[in-house]
Amino acid sequence: MKRKKIKKFPIFCIVLIILCLGFGYFRFFKNNNNDKKIKQTTSNYSKKSLEKMDDLKIKDKVNTNLYSKTLDVAIFDEYFQSEYVNKYEKIDYVDIDNFIDFINILLDRSTSVDEISKIIENYTNCPNFNKYNFERYLSYKEKNSDLDYQDVVTRVNIKLDKEYYTDTEPVKDPDSLYVVVNKYNYLDANFIPKNLKPLFNNSGVTMVEEAANAYKELVEAAKNDGITLVATTAYRSYAFQSSLYNSYKNKDGEALADTYSARPGYSEHQTGLAADLNDPNYSPRRLSADDYKWLKDNADKFGFIIRFPEGKENITGYQEEDWHIRYLGKDVAKKVKDSGLTLDEYYDLYLK
Ligand SMILES: [Zn+2]
Repeated sequence: MKRKKIKKFPIFCIVLIILCLGFGYFRFFKNNNNDKKIKQTTSNYSKKSLEKMDDLKIKDKVNTNLYSKTLDVAIFDEYFQSEYVNKYEKIDYVDIDNFIDFINILLDRSTSVDEISKIIENYTNCPNFNKYNFERYLSYKEKNSDLDYQDVVTRVNIKLDKEYYTDTEPVKDPDSLYVVVNKYNYLDANFIPKNLKPLFNNSGVTMVEEAANAYKELVEAAKNDGITLVATTAYRSYAFQSSLYNSYKNKDGEALADTYSARPGYSEHQTGLAADLNDPNYSPRRLSADDYKWLKDNADKFGFIIRFPEGKENITGYQEEDWHIRYLGKDVAKKVKDSGLTLDEYYDLYLK
């Protein structure tokens, strides 16, 4: 009994395969086997599509017994490229804007037709996807294959694929609580925040009023927990930052100075929303491990984040500064903390 079954089985298979190939179903099945988003039908092309193929002189290259939605869309697209006709036919359709343009970019880079739809979907599903950055995403991903698609999109959007201090632009919302000033976004030399208030009596250390009030609450709460924190610098004018940066540059050279000090206009201190804390009972560092632990656990309750944390140097562009806090208001400060992202990334994803 068993033997007979084994002998019959291959014959049955061969007959089935011949049938499948004969009717062209094999290919149809393969095309329809993927994502739900993909729309393919067995019907042939419309009269209008066939006429368009005639116009484009590609009809003899197309298998018109089959139907490819991607090809059907491509022939009416301004970016249609006739040398890719047989590749379009093999690419699963995805219903998004600029689909054909993205396909061309990937085909130009010799990407396999089997991967193209999935790659495009992975990028376009990111909420902060920007079509103008598509080629930069691909190049950045090539160099940073360990990063997921979301991280690639965010990092390219915040220009980390470019050298620091290149492609810089002025910040559009200098008075916003959520303003991002970094190595690509600068404040005008004349910008001075409104409502600067001293952090303690008769002091030249000032912040924007809302941040100054929050600072006082933070310092008071820390004191109640046995932690002494004092801001040694907060708002800095463009001119002051300029003399500070230049003195560092003269001492350490530009490359090294850039890792710990901002160029004038590029310092968050000019927003009036940042402060550098110090524990007067501790040296040689600004903060003790206990101070920093308290700050990390509690700063968000008063609307602050640690702006340049350890492990994020390649994103913020600055070496760790456990003492530098940035005011964002309680709601956003907590969200940034919980996200585990830097302000630069969080802003691009959720605040822009
Ligand atoms: Zn600072």
